[in-house]
Amino acid sequence: MAGLNPAQRDAVQTLTGPMLVLAGAGTGKTRVVTTRIAELIRRGTPAERILAVTFTRKAAGEMQERAAVLLSRGKKGASRKRGKKKEPRPLISTFHSLCVKILRRHIHQLGYPEKFTICDRGDQESIARTALREIRVPDETLRPGDLLAIISNWKNQSIEPKEAASVAESDREHLAAAAYRRYQSKLKLRGTTDFDDLLLLTEQLMTKHPAIRREEAGLFDQILVDEYQDTNGSQYRIVKALAMGHRNLCVVGDDDQSIYGWRGAEVQHILRFTKDWPEAKVVRLEENYRSTGAILDYANTLIAFNSQRHDKILRPARGAGQRPQILQLQDETQEAETVITGIQLALQQPGIKAGDFAILCRTNEQPRIFETELRKAKLPYVLLGGMSFFDRKEVRDLVAYLKVVSNPTDESSMLRIINTPPRGIGASTVKSLMAAAVERGKPLWEAIPEVLSTGGLPAAAAGSVQKFQKLIQDLQELAERLPPGKLADAVVDRSNYHRELDRIYPDPNDREARRASVEELINAATNYSDGNDEATLREFLDDVAVGGDDLGDDKEKELARNAVALLTMHSAKGLEYPYVYMVGMEEGILPHRRSLEAVEASAIDEERRLCYVGVTRAQEKLTLSFALTRRKWGKPRETTPSRFLYEMTGQAENAKKSSKSTSKQRKTGKRAKP
Ligand code: ATP
Ligand code: MG
Repeated sequence: MAGLNPAQRDAVQTLTGPMLVLAGAGTGKTRVVTTRIAELIRRGTPAERILAVTFTRKAAGEMQERAAVLLSRGKKGASRKRGKKKEPRPLISTFHSLCVKILRRHIHQLGYPEKFTICDRGDQESIARTALREIRVPDETLRPGDLLAIISNWKNQSIEPKEAASVAESDREHLAAAAYRRYQSKLKLRGTTDFDDLLLLTEQLMTKHPAIRREEAGLFDQILVDEYQDTNGSQYRIVKALAMGHRNLCVVGDDDQSIYGWRGAEVQHILRFTKDWPEAKVVRLEENYRSTGAILDYANTLIAFNSQRHDKILRPARGAGQRPQILQLQDETQEAETVITGIQLALQQPGIKAGDFAILCRTNEQPRIFETELRKAKLPYVLLGGMSFFDRKEVRDLVAYLKVVSNPTDESSMLRIINTPPRGIGASTVKSLMAAAVERGKPLWEAIPEVLSTGGLPAAAAGSVQKFQKLIQDLQELAERLPPGKLADAVVDRSNYHRELDRIYPDPNDREARRASVEELINAATNYSDGNDEATLREFLDDVAVGGDDLGDDKEKELARNAVALLTMHSAKGLEYPYVYMVGMEEGILPHRRSLEAVEASAIDEERRLCYVGVTRAQEKLTLSFALTRRKWGKPRETTPSRFLYEMTGQAENAKKSSKSTSKQRKTGKRAKP
């Protein structure tokens, strides 16, 4: 409690009833949440009856850590000997993993199997493709990826398949509405859900089954939500449903940092809080403890360009510090080199470590070149968010094996691994197996024995299929005895997975990197079951599906502390670093091309909020960089500096001029540097 200002203390000590903490970046909102959790426990709320929800796995992990530190301080070590395994802990979780837990308990009420799976992007695309094919929509008209984007958008607004047609505005959306119905019924038929369903189905459970709502709400006495500005409609209603009994709901957020508009988050929810909870206490925090005055100046000047916002006071609690630096570089290679050299130089000063640096990118393509330079410089780094570990081919393959072992009727996983690594089950064999499955109305796995016994396959193919069947059966047996980590190890070993890597990655360096991620997955699985003897394979897979919420591996955290962080601005939310580089500050990157093409002017406002999030991550020094040319499809193209650079530096007028006159300046080689 000592490290809190009066307003924060007030928020932390108000332990009952609804409360909204509405405050700017770096004002200690998250500190209020973690201290409040510790305070609740200190004053007698059982830890396991506290639920804290946040947005990213990283944020959940950090909050878990911060709360643990506060709690252990309070205990002075006396009870630490009891071992941390048994000690009840508050549930600190992302929305999605909270929903998985709820769905596991009740999803059968909605006609899904209890053993439902959560499909990944690849599965989603193949289901979308089938749905489109069935209604004869060619790729040129609507690609699976576009269909998924439209569906996701609907789901985020809680629009069900039967309602989609009535909200569709274009021909494309009408087709999408028809495909949505099929897509959804296919998911259900396969006993699988997509990521958005996790929220939607949880919401449905709560509204359709009051008893379930009461049961789930009854598990907690206190609910805290961080980054409340980014809750979408479903999340908002889930929170409300869980808290409406005891009304002990504390939400903290900043409307200026709302950056998930495209996911259906509505700033309105935060502003509407006091209507839904009329007795709510509203706390405002005004001192920013994170950044120097100079950095805050940039942030405040920038965000003032957004018209629709709650005016907030954000005062620096720290001195002015160094002015942010703007780097103008020739091209993206030079940009990466300059940034990395800058980091290397800074690292020579005593007391500065690699973990003090973050490079923030707007797009998923930007990091690659920084990775290359970081490797050249032999600097340790971690990639966070957006470019997930779980999206790598080898990780997805192994996860597919584990999914099949856990549930062999998971068809998309089955198809992914049936011939990976190649084991003589070619496309035509797969086709006959599929045809047999369809004919018998059975999952592929259950059709296999019948096909084998009726001699429906050529001898060689039959032999291969039989071997595959034996492999899965053996692994299933192992799964009964082994914890997830050992099982993952056995999968790699028995499937001969390294052969697959040798096959697709002839370059030994690539192969090494891929082997490392295979090892990382095994580590993650091992860590998952460490200290939790009852951890099941299914729980581990759920966790992987929602982004590995509890994979909180100490080694990984240790690594992250000693490494330069390379991350997207979206995933930087809530985090802080002494030295922050915001790279690619160009029109088309930040603000993103999509926002420039969008009809609504608010799209730019959202990019500005994203930029504001980036700027306010910096504690000591902020560096903003842009390149004069950047390659697109291999060809260097001239760029225009981001309007946000001009806005931040009080030269907004020049931004307009610059975008109008750039072609002329390019010819003369002269360009106004912001
Ligand atoms: P964001 O909006 O970016 O999520 P936030 O409001 O959650 O920011 P915190 O991350 O909780 O802010 O706090 C920002 C920094 O200020 C942290 O390093 C935190 O430890 C520090 N801090 C918070 N409150 C105080 C205080 N009263 N005295 C000193 N430092 C503080
Ligand atoms: Mg925070």
